[in-house]
Amino acid sequence: MNAKSNKPLIPVEDALAKILSHVTPLDTEWVPLTQSLGRILAEPITSAVNVPPFANSAMDGYAIVAADSAGASAQSPRRLQVVDNIPAGVSPTKRVESGAAARIMTGAPMPPGADAVIRFEETSEYIATDGLAENEVALFAAVKQGDNVRHPGEDIRSGQTILPAGHRLRPQDVGVLAAVGQARVPVYRRPKVAILATGDELVSIEQPVTPGKIRNSNEYVQAAMVEKYGGQPVMLGIARDTIEDLTAKIRAGLEQDVDLFLTSAGVSIGDFDMVKTVLASEGQMQFWQVAIKPGKPLAFGMLHHRRGIPLIGLPGNPVAAMVAFEVFARPAILKLAGCANRQKNSVRARLDEEVTNSGRRHYMRAYVYQKEGEYHVTTRGSGVNIQGSGILSSMVWANGLAVIPENVTYLPAGHSIEVWILD
Ligand code: AMP
Ligand code: MG
Repeated sequence: MNAKSNKPLIPVEDALAKILSHVTPLDTEWVPLTQSLGRILAEPITSAVNVPPFANSAMDGYAIVAADSAGASAQSPRRLQVVDNIPAGVSPTKRVESGAAARIMTGAPMPPGADAVIRFEETSEYIATDGLAENEVALFAAVKQGDNVRHPGEDIRSGQTILPAGHRLRPQDVGVLAAVGQARVPVYRRPKVAILATGDELVSIEQPVTPGKIRNSNEYVQAAMVEKYGGQPVMLGIARDTIEDLTAKIRAGLEQDVDLFLTSAGVSIGDFDMVKTVLASEGQMQFWQVAIKPGKPLAFGMLHHRRGIPLIGLPGNPVAAMVAFEVFARPAILKLAGCANRQKNSVRARLDEEVTNSGRRHYMRAYVYQKEGEYHVTTRGSGVNIQGSGILSSMVWANGLAVIPENVTYLPAGHSIEVWILD
């Protein structure tokens, strides 16, 4: 229950669904292939060509008629006339008839008539042989039709969809796009995300810390996370805990044509927690307070603007802000960015120790490791109060977030749970 209004807290899934219902994917643009890494494809990509485009040799060797090698062995080699020498990049014209062979390099087109390649290692090229004429080769093994030949389209067929829309491009994806000749790539625009820290106690990293002040770390964490998830951070600095300054900084942020607004702190029930008030006057509040730990005082609303810009009011405590970012802001950024997969990677792991829970969904800082072919997870560091919502260094220790479901108040050691993988 929420102390002030006695309203029940909103379940995590409902809060996320509400946020995502206010987020629509951005428009799209074309970028050169060299700038496409990490971008989200806006359209499925279909190949107009076969890869490889022609039958070619998979080995350095001799292109032959396979039947000519039947029964060849070290004891009874077969001899063939060498009629051509084919490097990669040419278009061979000489036919290879029965009794003939063409020397051929990896990737070179198969000559007409040949139906297999025998590797140099199985010929007189490697194995010393007496009594061969200068234009002869001896085969010491048999090959079958098609051996060591790559067929046209065996990698990618013409007409095949190679990548779906909504896919984040990895180096290997850039590779197949290059292979089919996609010099420019349709991608979603990168979301511009405004980041505003709030608090009278905050000083920027360039300034000295005077009595009562602390460094603004949230803004830097959030800028890094926006970049990590494919957005462009717009760092707005620090707003003081006054209606006037918050209002002015939010308006200034909107003028930079951002797609999403993130604030941190000022959403609790303290005397100077103004974000909700300003959100209500500069836009429309959608909900406040979620059944999550850490991160309960999360606020969400839509700012007045011709496009209607979603604002996620993250909590102030650095870990709460990071967890709430992963749970709520990350999927919003990914949806803006057109990304089809918004699932966090996770594993099932066995708890090293029992855990108790308040009844909210608890994302516990956790360390996952493998032992005897199984994942194990601990939620206890060595000697630090690692679950405190202000202990940012515990996020440096953690490599995961253990997900303790809402309404689960106790889990014994050895219980298998879901753990989000952070990296
Ligand atoms: P608040 O929700 O404004 O009461 O803030 C909760 C806690 O988070 C307080 O201890 C703040 O000092 C701290 N905090 C707020 N903003 C930041 C920030 N940008 N960087 C680091 N800590 C912060
Ligand atoms: Mg504050």
